[in-house]
Amino acid sequence: MPKASSALPVTTVIASAAIGLGLVATPLESATAVEVTPTPVESPVPSPTPTTPTTPPVSLWPATVLVGTSALGRPIYAQRQGNPTASKVLLAVGVIHGNEKAGKKIINGVRATQIPADGDVQVWTIQSMNPDGMAANKRRNARSVDLNRNFPTGWSPRTPGAGVSAGSEPETQALMAFMGDLRPDAMFVYHQDWNMVLGACNWKTRPYALRYAKLTGLKKESCARAAYTGTMGSWYNSNFPGYMLTVELPGSRKVTAKKVTKWRDSVITASRELVDLDTTPVTPADPVTDETN
Ligand SMILES: [Zn+2]
Repeated sequence: MPKASSALPVTTVIASAAIGLGLVATPLESATAVEVTPTPVESPVPSPTPTTPTTPPVSLWPATVLVGTSALGRPIYAQRQGNPTASKVLLAVGVIHGNEKAGKKIINGVRATQIPADGDVQVWTIQSMNPDGMAANKRRNARSVDLNRNFPTGWSPRTPGAGVSAGSEPETQALMAFMGDLRPDAMFVYHQDWNMVLGACNWKTRPYALRYAKLTGLKKESCARAAYTGTMGSWYNSNFPGYMLTVELPGSRKVTAKKVTKWRDSVITASRELVDLDTTPVTPADPVTDETN
């Protein structure tokens, strides 16, 4: 962008500055990763202060944002509905594991639904953060990394598919930078095929998991499974004041149009309920475990 004051193009790369300047090079073992501030790039004149980010405020972002690109160069777009100046922000990601595609139908349903432009909620949606895996109908990305084991919180090299380092994948980096800029108050990320909402066994997400299970008609989590490492939910829930739920939809044969409509409505309802959400900050030293697929 030549000047911050000029009209923004329809699609703007929001996250790229943050990606190239820290999120890759820094070993993201600690929860301080989210604090990385995007550094100015392509600035024709020196910034007034070295810490001024080039990323414009969320309220000035275009309705469609290029979050980043996959390992094979496929674009990952996010789309906004609702009020750009709303104080509450919801982000829903349809697909992270490429062979668990049902969530994309929910995203498309949300995108086809009118969300009030004068309300206090903006809803952002990403169809898939793993377009290469989706194209190949595989769980992992094109570099054989499980993106839901690649996030920095609790990352372990011993976990199969974790990647060469925490946050090593372009898709992971893109989402981390985007989430760091957007700072959503709530997130839903869809998987298959456990037919349940995870998060009920976690002090922070429990009330929202129970509520979302009721809204969606999915089961609530039973608390007997082992926690996984490097998940997106652990990273978000440890670093942001809001809540992220990992939502396990049923197997594709049971994903009917009627259920997709119900799940779409659940997103809309949850977004409205965000207005009353009290986002109590969590401390980075208090990591939140996530039991996720
Ligand atoms: Zn999954």
